[in-house]
Amino acid sequence: MQTSTSDTPTPTSLRVHSVHALAPGPRLIVLGAVHGNETCGTRGIERVLGEIDSGALALRRGSLSLVPVTNPLAYRNHQRMGERNLNRNLYPNPQPQDFEDRIANLLCPLLAAHDVLLDLHSFHTAGEAFAMIGPPNNVGALEPFALAAQEQALALRLGPRRIVEGWLDTYAIGVQRRLARTAHPDRAQLLSTDPRYGVGTTEYMRSQGGYAITLECGQHDDPQAPEVAYRAIHRTLAQLQMIDAARPEATAAIELLRLSEVIDKLHPDDRFVRPWSSYDPVREGQAIGQRHDGTPVLAPFEGQIVFPNPAALAGNEWFYLARRSARDLGP
Ligand SMILES: [Zn+2]
Repeated sequence: MQTSTSDTPTPTSLRVHSVHALAPGPRLIVLGAVHGNETCGTRGIERVLGEIDSGALALRRGSLSLVPVTNPLAYRNHQRMGERNLNRNLYPNPQPQDFEDRIANLLCPLLAAHDVLLDLHSFHTAGEAFAMIGPPNNVGALEPFALAAQEQALALRLGPRRIVEGWLDTYAIGVQRRLARTAHPDRAQLLSTDPRYGVGTTEYMRSQGGYAITLECGQHDDPQAPEVAYRAIHRTLAQLQMIDAARPEATAAIELLRLSEVIDKLHPDDRFVRPWSSYDPVREGQAIGQRHDGTPVLAPFEGQIVFPNPAALAGNEWFYLARRSARDLGP
């Protein structure tokens, strides 16, 4: 359902709530509505703000920044993006060209001033919540990282049993393929073929010496998603010992998946053979979709579908494929 967007002016500011405990401790930032139609984080943050206002929740150590609506233009429009996807190609830009560039110029220094990011999202099709983590510790060029143990420990305690890794390197391979296909890219296409295009909030946070988790709290309209978001904020505050609460237990029976392939929609008439949900299993060679000219799109290996988006725009990611990961997430 689309409501009118012309009767409210274009947002001109970003709202950030900050609470500083008198005792030192971690600096946590929580983001909602980086994508404007993903409002579970906004609702979860509003509930936590209410608890802070009423005195029901007391910050004991460190500092907490809450951003209920990180992309106000997309949120006002009830859409994923304003002028572009805020969660891609996220860098400070000395010559901002669009709304998201201007938000990035506020958001990037804000992220850099914190130690830990919890970024609350939701997804398009039905399915259970999951967390996305960064790479293992490494000194590579794409995403060097040294805080995997802390990030993993938090991911194990946010609530959801499913954890996904491998976003940025899978995305970088997809970008190379996209670039090879695109002869004369316009600016939007240029952005989507930049190897840095895969850098969103969590990748930027890691590049600035912090660690970060994206929590996908459920389907966009799932009434449970705001509850998942709210509980994850509390669990993070407890894990970081910023409130007087016991550290949460690690979730039992964790399923760790590695994103291994991203497949773009190439034509507006490319279509799925059936409505897929995230984590639907596929066999090697199974038909997933059909290109506009009738060519079948087959699963290259046995795995699971992630983020299927029937409404994807041509030239953008249509779905991902994941498989089981052997990475040890620790205690
Ligand atoms: Zn999102």
